Amino acid sequence: MKDIYFDHAATTPIVEEVIEVMQPFYNEIYANPASSHLPGQKAASALEDARELVTKLIGAKKAEELVFTAGGTEADNLALKGAALARSSEGKHIITSSIEHHAVLKSCKYLEKHLGFEITYLDVDQDGIIDVEELKRNIREDTILVSIMYANNEIGTIQPIKELAAVAHQNDIIFHTDAVQTVGQLKIDVNDLGVDLLSISAHKFNGPKGIGALFVSQGVELVPQMSGGSQERKRRAGTANLAAAVGMGKAAEIALEKLAEKRNKLVLLRDYFISELFANFDDIKINGPKGDYRLPGNINISFKNLDSESILFNLSLNNIAASTGSACASGSLSVSHVLKAIALEEEYIKGAIRFSLGFGNTKEEIDYVVNKLKNIIDRLKSLK
Ligand SMILES: *Cc1c(COP(=O)(O)O)cnc(C)c1O
Repeated sequence: MKDIYFDHAATTPIVEEVIEVMQPFYNEIYANPASSHLPGQKAASALEDARELVTKLIGAKKAEELVFTAGGTEADNLALKGAALARSSEGKHIITSSIEHHAVLKSCKYLEKHLGFEITYLDVDQDGIIDVEELKRNIREDTILVSIMYANNEIGTIQPIKELAAVAHQNDIIFHTDAVQTVGQLKIDVNDLGVDLLSISAHKFNGPKGIGALFVSQGVELVPQMSGGSQERKRRAGTANLAAAVGMGKAAEIALEKLAEKRNKLVLLRDYFISELFANFDDIKINGPKGDYRLPGNINISFKNLDSESILFNLSLNNIAASTGSACASGSLSVSHVLKAIALEEEYIKGAIRFSLGFGNTKEEIDYVVNKLKNIIDRLKSLK
């Protein structure tokens, strides 16, 4: 069996058509999009075409509402720091959740430590879901920004973003969502959701790495986090990564075209994988919600009293790539902040593994992995 890749939440393979459209932007159309000469104009027009395609994927009305960044992390930083600073004269309180990606959590920590903001971290229930009433209860006079991720990268929980955003707006508060895991898996319509800011990253939907975007709803003010030129309508200084942006545009076009097909395929594979796991293992637990509240491609499973690092190592020896679900858990003492937040029992926390599925995965691969897992788990148990 060839290499089997079940780590699409970490990154996805870049598709051939995307590489093809990027190629000319390295050796033929290399001018700076900010230059006024003809080659520059060509470059600028390619950048705007790409922006248009990404705009469509998230249902935004105007391409101007999209700011290209160097990925999801930068989009989150720009959203949090940019919006917080723009509104700091009205208040310095921000609400987020305890299960955000580190790009959001550490931006909050930065605002807290260096700029005097106060942050409230909302708790989640045992499936990782945020209670809309809990958001209401935590809003204060000086709350200026709420940031809640659309879907969690570790346990796949999908939040009631539309309801949460509505509560924020009733209180004149800016609402940001990190939708990096959601784009390309679920249909997104920023206007229907009613969000002000939304982060996306190309490499999570079969585009290139190092490019992303922040949707900034018309009229929402941001203090730029890069000082320099007036690119991206003065919201993000620096010469755009043109080839990557063009690749992101193509990836967005393909993702939109295949959205329903991909979702249906991933849901079937996910549910098949989960049922096979339960058919073959005792002492396991699925972390995160069931059915519609879970990302189509996410499986997070705990093997009771076993160690995830040993399981992953053994999977890796069999050319199977999976993950613990959090980048910082490996080899360190820190336990996943997400698994802690859902109050997972001690005996299940250490043995948690994430399998995240992508378009290329097949049922045969799942059968193969479950079969290998059986040997691995048996052996690890016998060693105890
Ligand atoms: C991957 C990821 C990010 C970071 O995106 P990069 O483009 O890798 O910087 C942010 N948030 C979530 C939820 C992610 O899954």
